[in-house]
Amino acid sequence: MMHSLLQRQIRKLMLSEDAVPVDLASWQAFLSAVDRTYGQFDQDRDLLELSLDLTSREMRQLYDEVERHNEQLETEVAARTAELEVANARDRQRMDELENIVQARTVEIRHAALHDKLTGLPNRSMFYDRLHHVIQRRQRIPDLHFAVLFIDFDRFKAINDSLGHAAGDKLLRTIAQRLHESLRASDTICSSKETGFLAARLGGDEFCILLEDLKDDADAIAVSDRLLEDLSRPYVLDERSVNSSASIGIARSNVGYKSAEDMIRDADIAMYRAKHLGRGRVVVFDQTMHGTVMRKIDIESDIKTAVERGQFYLVFQPIVSLVTGRAVALETLCRWEHPIYGDVSPEEFIPLAEELGIIDSIGNWVLDTAIAQFAEWQRTWCRDRLSFLTVNVSPAQLTGAELATRVAGLVSKHDLDPASLVLEITETTLTRNAEEALAAIQAVRARGVRVFLDDFGSGYSSLGILHEFPLDGIKLDRAFLESASSTRRVAACIHSVVTLTRTLRMALIAEGVESYEQVALLQSLGCDDGQGFLFSRPMRAEDVAAGLESIASESRLLDASSEVGPARPTGGVDLTRQPSSEAGVNRPRPIGISKDRPAIQYKC
Ligand code: C2E
Ligand code: MG
Ligand code: MG
Repeated sequence: MMHSLLQRQIRKLMLSEDAVPVDLASWQAFLSAVDRTYGQFDQDRDLLELSLDLTSREMRQLYDEVERHNEQLETEVAARTAELEVANARDRQRMDELENIVQARTVEIRHAALHDKLTGLPNRSMFYDRLHHVIQRRQRIPDLHFAVLFIDFDRFKAINDSLGHAAGDKLLRTIAQRLHESLRASDTICSSKETGFLAARLGGDEFCILLEDLKDDADAIAVSDRLLEDLSRPYVLDERSVNSSASIGIARSNVGYKSAEDMIRDADIAMYRAKHLGRGRVVVFDQTMHGTVMRKIDIESDIKTAVERGQFYLVFQPIVSLVTGRAVALETLCRWEHPIYGDVSPEEFIPLAEELGIIDSIGNWVLDTAIAQFAEWQRTWCRDRLSFLTVNVSPAQLTGAELATRVAGLVSKHDLDPASLVLEITETTLTRNAEEALAAIQAVRARGVRVFLDDFGSGYSSLGILHEFPLDGIKLDRAFLESASSTRRVAACIHSVVTLTRTLRMALIAEGVESYEQVALLQSLGCDDGQGFLFSRPMRAEDVAAGLESIASESRLLDASSEVGPARPTGGVDLTRQPSSEAGVNRPRPIGISKDRPAIQYKC
């Protein structure tokens, strides 16, 4: 039995028990095998140690490298973090700036949304909003008194058209400023200084004022009177002094309004009434005025179909020679007979038709009917008696060569000599779009039709217009004659116009001749033709022949050898009679200057 210690050693040497030597030779062989094995072990161990040593060095190197990398990375991260912090700070600052800009812009946008850009006054929506709150407040405090003033500037359109938009804008800014000043001076009538008043521009020349916390409803009238006074002071525009007035409508809280819209609408109605009564007035709303608005609404809707329903007709007013006393021409004037409201004035429906963009259809009907009528009269009785017919045309009709083509077409269709047709255009037409007007006038004149300037002197146009535009004649606005008898200045102006038109070889017709004094004045100033109620009111077509006959029968009263002017009366006509005041009546009056009453002489 082998000793156990020996067996363990043999296993260590990985020998089988069979391989254990049993004799000396085998032992020697065995021991040398053991030596070899141990030698091999040592070699292997050395190799292993060497390799372990190598591995740990590499590992250390690797660790070092990793550490170096880490350090480098940390440095980079720190630098990047610092950079990012700087960038973040910059972004935060930029964000703050942007936020400030957004805030400022929001304030601006909110301001713009609630204010009128031109005048800086609150606009329509801000006004409605504030009024809405006041109306609600009154439902809690029934004693609260407030009023809405609707203000319309009476001559804004004329000023804007004749002096141009820049002057119009300046005028609006001045009005806004005056409103403010005037209201500040009136604020003692309000119980509360903070609320006081709110002046807003609703658009165009329409302004609204909210007077809050009034001590008394009647105070609104006192404020309006003061406003009228302040607004009627002259305005200086383009170095010109311009006079105008305003019309004010008042709606008061005692009506018990439930909505801002209703209250503003009623103030508007009252303003419309004030304008109708003669401008420069204050009118307080009352329920009876609703009818006026209904009329306005009806008229606006009915005018669109008035041509096709045959509701328009023409009247003709003679233009009379102040030298011979005979009618020399006729002016065509349009009338609208409304089925409910009767005759509507062209001063009301022409601007409305222009605004609604339907003036062309009315204008074409007028031209067609007038030309047809005059052509027929020329064929039948008036060829040697009347030299021309005038027809009014609106600025909207005077665009490019279109009007000329249409007129030429109508003239040839009705076989009328174009030389016996005159188109009347107003100053506004020329100032609104000078280039287009010039082209249109040239085109019309190229077709042999003449062009007169109507209502000369009613706007703000200068004498420059007369040489800028190729016009054949002018019609002096009746405002000249209305004031001529009282001022020598006006007489001097008429005299200058007479001289100018003679020099420029233009015709001159004075409008609005209503009295013999005016005839005498015109004669003494050398104005040869006139038109007015003194001679005849506008007549329906069927009355024209008789009407002209009646004027002609009086021409014998004139004597061309006057000492004071081209005409002097010789016969006993009662010249103290005034023209008939019946509207639309065709009753020609005799013309001439009484022997007993010499023509008035003006030193010009
Ligand atoms: P207008 O062309 O200056 O016509 C003269 C206006 O003065 C007419 O008013 C005429 O009835 C009125 N009138 C004539 N003599 C006197 C007078 O002695 N005293 C007074 N106070 N007035 C006198 P109407 O017919 O109401 O026409 C007003 C304006 O409407 C016309 O002024 C013209 O601008 C415009 N209009 C009339 N018919 C037409 C038309 O067919 N087309 C266009 N575009 N406008 C027209
Ligand atoms: Mg006219
Ligand atoms: Mg006129």
